[in-house]
Amino acid sequence: MTDQLNEDPTTWETGELVAFLEKAALAYRQGTPLIEDDLYDHVYLAELCKRDPEHPFLHQVEAEPDYGAGRLKHPEPMLSTEKSYSIEETRKWVKRIQSEAKKQGIDVAELRVMVTAKLDGLAAMLREDGRLVTRGDGAYGNDISSAFDKGVVDVGNGAPGVGELVMVESYFEQHLKAAGYAHPRNVCVGIVNSDEINADFKQALAAGMVRFVPYAALEKWQGSLEELLNDHDAIQQQVRESCDYPIDGVVAEITDEKLKTLLGSTSHHNRWQIAIKQRAVAKQTTVKSISWQTGRTGRVTPVLGVEPIELSGAIVSRITAHHAGNVRALGLGEGAVITAERSGEVIPKIVAVVESAKKTTLPKKCPSCEHELVWEGDFLTCVNHLACPAQIKNTLEHFFRTHGQVDGFGPRSIDKLVEAGIDTLQKIYASTEEDFIKAGFGEGQSKNLRRELNRSLSVQIEDWRLLAAFGIARLGKGDSRRLLQGMRLEHLASVTEEEIIRIDGFAGLSAGIIVAELKEMWPKIEQMLELGFKLEETPLLSEADSIESPIAGMKIVFTGKMLQASRDEMKKQAMQLGAKVQSAVSSTTDLLVCGENVGAAKTGKAEKLGVRVVTEAEYVALLK
Ligand SMILES: [Zn+2]
Repeated sequence: MTDQLNEDPTTWETGELVAFLEKAALAYRQGTPLIEDDLYDHVYLAELCKRDPEHPFLHQVEAEPDYGAGRLKHPEPMLSTEKSYSIEETRKWVKRIQSEAKKQGIDVAELRVMVTAKLDGLAAMLREDGRLVTRGDGAYGNDISSAFDKGVVDVGNGAPGVGELVMVESYFEQHLKAAGYAHPRNVCVGIVNSDEINADFKQALAAGMVRFVPYAALEKWQGSLEELLNDHDAIQQQVRESCDYPIDGVVAEITDEKLKTLLGSTSHHNRWQIAIKQRAVAKQTTVKSISWQTGRTGRVTPVLGVEPIELSGAIVSRITAHHAGNVRALGLGEGAVITAERSGEVIPKIVAVVESAKKTTLPKKCPSCEHELVWEGDFLTCVNHLACPAQIKNTLEHFFRTHGQVDGFGPRSIDKLVEAGIDTLQKIYASTEEDFIKAGFGEGQSKNLRRELNRSLSVQIEDWRLLAAFGIARLGKGDSRRLLQGMRLEHLASVTEEEIIRIDGFAGLSAGIIVAELKEMWPKIEQMLELGFKLEETPLLSEADSIESPIAGMKIVFTGKMLQASRDEMKKQAMQLGAKVQSAVSSTTDLLVCGENVGAAKTGKAEKLGVRVVTEAEYVALLK
């Protein structure tokens, strides 16, 4: 928890960020969250949205953990639903439907739309063969047919179709909420997940309160697209009130079968359907405590411990206040009353301070090393960079995480090593199995640690990645890569500010900081390099221009899902062939390479800018 809070995902590679998101999402669904929900959404997911709004991770159907009697393939993929959080977003969807209808010669005024509740349970499908299968990853789900034997009621009486396993909401409110159950969905998961059913759940099952509800069995509102927009909120209200199951919005879909077929689907959702959700209401809570945590760079971050509140089905008890400047400006502290919100994919945050704390206390000393803190902008910072245990630990963790190919050096191991005095990379790499055993590790683990260190020296690693792993200020992965496109790693030993400023993307201030940091850290970095990492040199841009290849010197953007190799690999290959890879299309772009599922908006924009748009296959042909 501590290290995640202090970690800055803006410095991570996208691949690394996605791997972490996947891990965290899985842990969450298995009921053992790695990080708090608000951090997941607010910091990590938000970073991916910002960086790559079209990343497949954001658009795939969420996977779920295995339960039930094994996995089954769905006859047709069970997709997720596109979401709208405002009438503007619904209007866009309506416009898309209307323009497609016009193209097909269908009278727009005749189009009907159907609205049902969007149940907040466990999505599943009752198949023709009578098996009940969860949505799973959309392609495969888990066989949970035994739910019916346990007493789950099939509201559709055996009719096949898509629906949700839910618990009657009024029953939950009356009987289970007071007993400490957080959400009716968790009860459903508990029932399908386990053969041992507790007394509370047995009672609910016996009362017929846990049900499989096919969407076809729900009450519907029907009207025209125009009415849907005119009565946008009233319709939601009406549907909500007609339903005694937990819901998290409504689903609108057009009824014209021909148009539905024409509209089809993306890999994520059906185009003829949209889920309309309301932004969560902000909830009030009281601050119980503030804890302060020192990160790798010495910044000390305030985390509010609050009276637990349920926000969109998740219990939140810690909310980050970002920096000390906020705490001071907003009067945060024990007893402060704040409102916080979290809705769907929208980031959770402090909305307002209802009542400031009587007393706001800012720490004077670092919580880790007790060194005096100093203000740097809005941040309180511990400048005891070389001796502060929190900074030492976080720096070591940062190295191994950024290296990315060494296992076993997570927060717990690092704690143990630092406590045993093995507190620098040099000392870690110089340690033998016996040293690790002396530090308190078991024999097997000690052997693994040593083997992993050796392996880290024998696998290929990009020189910019290793540079970024040292955690030099202003040299995250992106900047390390840019820097090494302008000069060789060895040259950093004597680099000047002027040389750095000459490279695209570096300004005077960062150049000054980088030079100062390198001067201090280079002797240690050099020692590390002498260990013999197998470095893969970043091609210099000046050399890239002289590479002979059909794409040398071209500025290229890759978008969408690639079939040949991962997008990251394709980027790397393009760079080796002398192309410059850009992250977004601009007027300087020469080529936009589109993988699968690239929206017309993106290609349209590129075409308008005069950028050549090619498919992945055309690009591959071009290389030959
Ligand atoms: Zn400190």
